[in-house]
Amino acid sequence: MSKRTKWDTKGDLDESKNLPIYQHKATLQQAVKDNSFLVVTGETGSGKTTQLPQYLHQAGFWSNGKIGITQPRRVAAITVAQRVSQEMHCSLGREVGYQVRFDDCTTQDTVVKYMTDGCLLREILADPVLSHCVLCALLPDKASKGRCVPLKVVVMSATLETDKLSVFLGGCPVFTIPGRTFPVTSKFSCAIGPKDTESSVYVKEVVKVALDVHTSEMAGDILVFLTGQSEIEKACDMLYEKAESIDYRYDVQDHKVEGLLILPLYGSMPTDQQKQIFQPPPPGIRKCVVATNIAATSLTINGIKYIVDSGFVKQLNHNSRVGMDILEVVPISKSEALQRAGRAGRTSAGKCFRIYSPAFWEKCMPEYTVPEIQRTSLTAVILTLKCLGVHDVIRFPYLDRPEERFILEALKQLYQCDAIDRRGKVTRLGELMVEFPLPPGLTRALLQAASLGCEDLLLPVAAMLSVENIFIRPGHPEKQKEADKKHRQLGVQAGSCNDFTMLLSVFEKCKASDAPSAWCKDNYIHWRALKSAFSVETQLREILLRLQKKRDFPMEKFDGNKSELFRRCLCTGYFTNVARRYGLFKTKSHPHRSLFDQEAQLDWVIFHDLLVTSRIYIRTVCPIRYDWVKDLLPKLHEVDVYELSSVAREEVTDEEVAKWVTKEAAKRQTEGSAEDV
Ligand code: ADP
Repeated sequence: MSKRTKWDTKGDLDESKNLPIYQHKATLQQAVKDNSFLVVTGETGSGKTTQLPQYLHQAGFWSNGKIGITQPRRVAAITVAQRVSQEMHCSLGREVGYQVRFDDCTTQDTVVKYMTDGCLLREILADPVLSHCVLCALLPDKASKGRCVPLKVVVMSATLETDKLSVFLGGCPVFTIPGRTFPVTSKFSCAIGPKDTESSVYVKEVVKVALDVHTSEMAGDILVFLTGQSEIEKACDMLYEKAESIDYRYDVQDHKVEGLLILPLYGSMPTDQQKQIFQPPPPGIRKCVVATNIAATSLTINGIKYIVDSGFVKQLNHNSRVGMDILEVVPISKSEALQRAGRAGRTSAGKCFRIYSPAFWEKCMPEYTVPEIQRTSLTAVILTLKCLGVHDVIRFPYLDRPEERFILEALKQLYQCDAIDRRGKVTRLGELMVEFPLPPGLTRALLQAASLGCEDLLLPVAAMLSVENIFIRPGHPEKQKEADKKHRQLGVQAGSCNDFTMLLSVFEKCKASDAPSAWCKDNYIHWRALKSAFSVETQLREILLRLQKKRDFPMEKFDGNKSELFRRCLCTGYFTNVARRYGLFKTKSHPHRSLFDQEAQLDWVIFHDLLVTSRIYIRTVCPIRYDWVKDLLPKLHEVDVYELSSVAREEVTDEEVAKWVTKEAAKRQTEGSAEDV
């Protein structure tokens, strides 16, 4: 028997008393009372995230303000809040709630609030001293200034970086939750060598190994680490199909095992499905969770005894050559591999099956994972810092200092979309931009549209680009053809070979439909993604309306047709992502390929992002006229980044700026500056 549907069993709420942190409840409550800053460390799963906020709640810390807990991933913020609300016997959104980008599940009554780091930053922007917050992460210099009740900061970490954290927080005490872990034996295989990075190879291999574990190992749940949604769904389909043909009388070593429950786990999954992975399986059933990296540190699943490690992770990396963050599949680090293996040894001895060879470990896997701040675009971070009054973003005391060239690049991008001026000071536009939880280029285009009175064109597009991919592409070849045909038809109905218009058209058509979910099904569109897009659009509109009420919201005039207006607004934000036709566009035959007609005789396009596999693809493409970006292109290279970063070191005089501008103008070459992709 294999199973992949909902399985209702109750999690054991009393289990919290068995967690390693429980014995230290009183000491921890006292330590937070006595210290403004505290570092708490303990193994992943020891109860830091779910229990400590409850201990502080019980100790009455909430009477002075909220208890805020930041989480690096939205899935973690949501599922943990759900769990804690259950443990505290209240409905989610009342005493315990969560806030993640575009989803606020809190009320006036919420005192224990889980949120993503980004949401906390937004709170700080609105209220720099966090006057209503008791406990948060990483805000040392805000803790004492301008508040009646001191802010308490507790940093909870499973890593060994506690000394660094303590120094960062002025030498604060470190509380270690002693925990016991059990030995995990790891086995390499020869399936994946240094050259095998094709997803089809490692997906097939993890499925094979997971089934081997299921048939030949004693009872205990399996956790498979894969790269992303599509690989996980593929693996689950394969596992399901193969598990169906198992004969439990003969094929399975442990006769107590009578079935396999296959559960996917990735960030954009619906929340009710995510909840299921925490529930213990029914007696005799082995649970097999196929997950992304969120199951390595952000979430702890009980009962795991076996790990199947693909050795890969999908990671956002900044690519300086194209000046963008790109989602890439890369080998994990050795420390990450140890963390993955450790998930099998929480309650008893476990086993980890690595599908890669020792040579892969030696040659392809770095020692440590580079922190995200050091490998992704810093534009949003730098703009936020500047809006908080931190001008010298180079010498700012980062916990993990990003390379200077990345900071400079972020400054350059902010300058290019008019968020800061030549001296590195935030402009009026920059102050508006920081309010939107969107990438700066997209925000710039949206604000341009708003200033021309055509925000209705850009708001849906911004929303559609903020949710998961809306186009469904089924695995079955026949269905695939049909889906492609339907999508092409939608393109024709949108009346333009422009992916952005297509997004707008799908949004509007679905919204106007009497039976939107049936319409989506018929057109191979994700109804769930579109529903989120509707909600995101409303929220973006609310932010915009709030800003438009302010007196100095910029307004301009435009006399031209609607299509040109739309594309020109896009150009304002996306002129940095411009490509020029170079023979044929290389957007051919990738499954997510642009719907843009390859044969169109158009020379210049802008695009939303890049996808890197063994080739580079541009995605969400819009043909433009060179004339529309011509005046913007000089911005790509005219600015001296050192100039932008010098703001806090020395005030630059107007004469110096003028001299520099003249010098630069002489150097300027407009043509051919865009990167051909
Ligand atoms: P830490 O923060 O130290 O890594 P957690 O507080 O996240 O530890 O986890 C403690 C326990 O709570 C684990 O046993 C974990 O399985 C359980 N847990 C966490 N979230 C949920 C959830 N949403 N549903 C059920 N159990 C959960």
